[in-house]
Amino acid sequence: MAQIANLPLRLSPYLSAEKIQSRVKELAREISPHFFPSSEPLIAVCVLKGSFMFYSDLIRELDGNIECEFLAVSSYSGMTSSGEVKVTLDLNRAIEGKNVLLVEDIVDTGLTMNFLIQWLKSRKPKNLKTVALLLKPDALKTKCDLDFVGFKIPNDFVVGYGLDYQGYYRNLPYIAQVQSFN
Ligand code: 5GP
Repeated sequence: MAQIANLPLRLSPYLSAEKIQSRVKELAREISPHFFPSSEPLIAVCVLKGSFMFYSDLIRELDGNIECEFLAVSSYSGMTSSGEVKVTLDLNRAIEGKNVLLVEDIVDTGLTMNFLIQWLKSRKPKNLKTVALLLKPDALKTKCDLDFVGFKIPNDFVVGYGLDYQGYYRNLPYIAQVQSFN
């Protein structure tokens, strides 16, 4: 049970660091043939902040020419989605005619991923694929075109490995379920 002094959350470990690392390696092996051995570079798009750890582990396992790009969106306040997605940090370059991999931490209602897919498609990439480390199938509120998924998980709030609660817990190397709030 992990606990941080100034936060009241009780956590129970759910996905160990070892399990995550081994699935990330498998995902990289699934993704690579879709982009490589073509010599064209892949633009790997990290959705900040939650995806940063997954993204940095994943791109190190992809054996090809990669350009790193970062996006930030806001849609959550505390533990609930506001339903309205806003891009707060845009890409630094055009993606028209390029190979693009969108890397998300978690798909819950699917609203953020759905929005980002449409948003990126409007910029006319040649080949857009999507990967999410976690998917909560029971929470989906919209159809969501995910090409690769790390783990399907129950509809519980999770933290760690980049995922936060009020800005904390991102640095945990594993993923934990929130057990209680006191
Ligand atoms: P969606 O739009 O699919 O409802 O939500 C996607 C975003 O909500 C994720 O990128 C993530 O920031 C946040 N989110 C959804 N579920 C969880 C969760 O269980 N834990 C944390 N920490 N964030 C979540």
